[in-house]
Formats: sequence, structure tokens, C-alpha cells
Amino acid sequence: MPDKLLSIEQKRPEGDWRNAKVEFRKGTICYSAAPKNIAYLGLPNPREWQPFDADWKLPPNWKQIILAGMKERLQKYRSFRLFMEICVRCGACADKCHFYVGSGDPKNMPVLRAELMRSVYRRYFTLTGRIFGALVGARELTEDVIKEWFYYFYQCTECRRCSVFCPYGIDTAEITMMGRELLDLIGCNINWVMEPAANCFRTGNHLGVQPHAFQDSLQFAADEATQITGLPIEVPINRKGAEILFVMPSADYFATPHYYTLLGYLMLFREIGLDYTLSTYASEGGNFGLFSSHELMKRLNAKIYEEAKRLRVKWILGGECGHMWRVFHQYMDTMNGPADFLEPPVSPITGTRFENARSTRAVHICEFAADLIHHGKLRLDPRRNDRWNVTYHDSCNPSRAMGLLEEPRYILNSVCRNFHEMPENTIREQTFCCGSGAGLGTDENLEMRLRGGFPRANAVKYVKEKHGVNLLACICAIDKATLPTLMEYWVPGVEVAGVHELLGNALVMTGEKERTTDLRGDDLPDDDLCGEPLVKVREEAARE
Ligand code: SF4
Ligand code: SF4
Repeated sequence: MPDKLLSIEQKRPEGDWRNAKVEFRKGTICYSAAPKNIAYLGLPNPREWQPFDADWKLPPNWKQIILAGMKERLQKYRSFRLFMEICVRCGACADKCHFYVGSGDPKNMPVLRAELMRSVYRRYFTLTGRIFGALVGARELTEDVIKEWFYYFYQCTECRRCSVFCPYGIDTAEITMMGRELLDLIGCNINWVMEPAANCFRTGNHLGVQPHAFQDSLQFAADEATQITGLPIEVPINRKGAEILFVMPSADYFATPHYYTLLGYLMLFREIGLDYTLSTYASEGGNFGLFSSHELMKRLNAKIYEEAKRLRVKWILGGECGHMWRVFHQYMDTMNGPADFLEPPVSPITGTRFENARSTRAVHICEFAADLIHHGKLRLDPRRNDRWNVTYHDSCNPSRAMGLLEEPRYILNSVCRNFHEMPENTIREQTFCCGSGAGLGTDENLEMRLRGGFPRANAVKYVKEKHGVNLLACICAIDKATLPTLMEYWVPGVEVAGVHELLGNALVMTGEKERTTDLRGDDLPDDDLCGEPLVKVREEAARE
């Protein structure tokens, strides 16, 4: 099967690229949103339809709606206006998109993806486009163009890799976001975005987990952490007056391998005696509004801050999530902020002031943990992770949107002894996307996900062959959900883990029992096989 997806032909578009006819093929698209989810969110034009249908049942005045929506956004967002004007077609971005690399479809080149929107902009919003039409790259807005937008704006994971290479800093992800916003106005959206968003509205999290089930899941995890360490571990929920509100992606308490990351958090908080609480309503860090519209993103982000206010905490600590951090760092201030009812975050253990979070009042768990390690506040036995040869996937949003590059590596190098970087042009700011972000991680879209994830998988294959890498660490819930499938397909034998799972393994907790298993329940390396007893490493760590 990989052979089939490896036959990628990079070719020129057949005929005129402005021909908008798209073939909707199973495996390469996402299904439309169920009307009940659109209605629940109060968004327009809920109806039954599917991308394969000839008739999308668009509202009769769909064209006016789109053009009015475009006009409004051109006035509102300077970036959108700018990006419609300044591309010089240099082509520097052309081969930087993982969907282009993996599919060979020219309309997946960022420059051409943006051109799908620009051509309509020119026709209706520029004088030259109105007069000269196709001669200056303008085209009519037709139903086929709407279908083409749907196909290609839902074949972009809004990862922003292309923008790293653009000499003008054009951010194609922002154009995709505008495209999706406009499609929302006529009820053309996908269920994998709308259902989690509607669930978030109803219960606070993507799966629609009710408060009692949330509490049960957390209690189960605490009991398991207690079993592994022999120490009583508790999970405070909705505790008013706690110092810190901890928010994580909901996958951490209902999916694997995310769940092992949760065990790591709980052990860490117990060890340092953190005064924190979780919230049954802010029970989701993820924000699928980012994949739909600015308005929805704002509405979903607000709940975290409302809970911080209600629980009277000082600041927010956030778990291993991707787009939660993009929303915090790039949009929070102007959307819902400033959060000046909270305090500028200060670590209660080390006294470090997190100046970068002065405005959002939200600190990433990797910043927090790296600071603890840096100040010698944790005792670590990295040999407990000796069965892993680890590499690190920079999740797009924490790396490109918030610049979180060093902290995860600092933690990994402290808790593991075998760490290997993937090639330079595939990590840090240049990291390749998992291929399944921005709401595209559905099974009906599996072929396109595997194609889009191919460049990332290829880099993992390189370090697997060179260094025997068997574990891909990351700090994003979508990565943890989708990379295992990607690895199984392209690089069998490589597993996926959160950084705090590995930290939890290595953490030597005060008064813990002799650990026999890691957080996955697998046997730890035998003392004798390790050469010197693990306990000695613990004592040395304690002395240091
Ligand atoms: S944002 Fe990412 S997925 Fe979208 S066009 Fe750019 S590189 Fe491709
Ligand atoms: S790199 Fe920037 S300017 Fe060049 S084609 Fe791509 S979007 Fe346009």
C-alpha cells in the first residue's frame, strides 16, 4: 500500500488553472457538518448535504453572502487585505507545503491555494480585475469555485510552514482561515470541526464528557499513578482559591498515548506540591474555533478565562496542546484579553516570573517543567527511559506560533539518554506538519492525511534507520492522536509519546516505592542489566 501513495507525480495543472472543477474522491475529503451541530452553535444555513452531491443546496443568495462577507473581512483584517495584494509569485513557498509534497496536486502549492481566493478578490474588489478580468488573473465566483475552495481550504492544516519561507511573510494559513470563515456563512463546513466545537459549547470539551465522567476519568488516572508510585495522588477539581488553573486537551483523559502524559502531569504536581485545580467546564484546552472562524475561536477561548475568574486563581497553566497555544499567543490578547483580573505568572517553586506570559497569564507546561529542572527542583533518573531511542516532532503551533523550541528539548535531554534530532530542515521553525491538524484528522480523509504526513514520516524514517529511533515525542494532542497511524503506515516500529510521559517515568518522587513499571505498565529496565542499580542513580540525583 505505501507504494501506491508513493507514486506522486508533480505536474503542471491540466489546462487553465482557473478551471475550478474538483473531483471529490473518498479518502481525500472530510464529510460535511451535521445540521444539528451548526444549529447548536447558532451558525447560518444548517442543512443535509455532502461534498459528493451535485447540488450543495446553497442558499439562493449565496453569492451576495460571500461577497459581502469578503468585503467585511477586507475592511476588518488588514492582514487579509495585504495578503490579497502583495504576492509576487516568486515560488519560494511552492514546494514547502506537505500536502503538495505528498499529493503532487499543484493547487496544494501555497501560492496557488491563496490564488484561489485572490482571483475572486481581483474580479470583485480591484479596478483592473473588473475591467480586464482573466487577463489579470481575475475570475468569476461560481458554485464550482465554492466547491474548489471547500476542497483546498480543507486540505490545508493551517500549519504556517509556507510563511517561514515567504520573503514577504505571507501567511497562507490566514487566507485558509478566511476561506473557511466565508464558507461558514453559507453553511459549508465539516463535521470534524463543528461537532467538537458544539460539544465544547455544551459540556466544555470536544467529546461532550459530562462533569461526573470527567471527575471519574481523573480519579481513575490518579489511582493508577498511585499504584505505580505507591504515593497517594489526588486530583483537585473546581477548587476555588487555588493558585493555578490547569487546562489540558481532553484527549489527555480519554485517549492513549495522551493518557500517559496525564499520569506524568499528576506525578509532577504531586512531587512539587503544586496548589492547583482543574475545572469541569474548562475541561478542554483545544479550540476548534481556530479551524472555523475568529468569532467561534473567541467564544471557545472565553470559557477558560471565565473559569479562571470564577475559581479565583492567579494564573493559568496549560498542558501539551497545539492549537490552544496558537490561540493564546496569537489571538487571545485582542480577542478576549487582556486578562488583567489574573496575576502575571510566577512559579511558586522557583520564583521565576514568566514575562512572556505577562499578558495572557497562561504558561506552557514545558516552560514550567524546564524551569523546575533548570533550578534543580526535580530528581530524575533518565535510565528509566532507556528502552526508548527518542526523537522530537516540533508540533506546528507551539513551535511556529509561540516559539517553544528549546524547552521540550531541554526536558527530553534531562529525562532520556538517547535523543536524536531529525534533519535540520524538518524541525524547529521548519517542522513538517503531522498532516492531520486544523480539523482534518478524520478517518474519511485518511489518504490525504497519509499523503500530507509523508514528509514528517520520511524524516522519522531517516533517524530510525540511522540511530534506531523507536519513539517520536511531541506536545500536541492532535499529533498524539494521528501520528501513531502515520508511523504505522510509513515507519512501523516507531511509537508516539508526550514529553511529560517521559518526565513522569524519570521523576524520582519523594517516598515513592521501588518502581517496577513505566507509565505504560511495561517493565522498567532490570537493575542488573543496567550495570549499576537504579537506586544509586536516584541517590546521586538527590545529592546533586
Ligand atoms: S499553512 Fe501549511 S498546509 Fe497550509 S498551505 Fe501553508 S504549508 Fe500548506
Ligand atoms: S513565497 Fe510569498 S511571495 Fe513568493 S509565491 Fe509564495 S506567497 Fe507569493
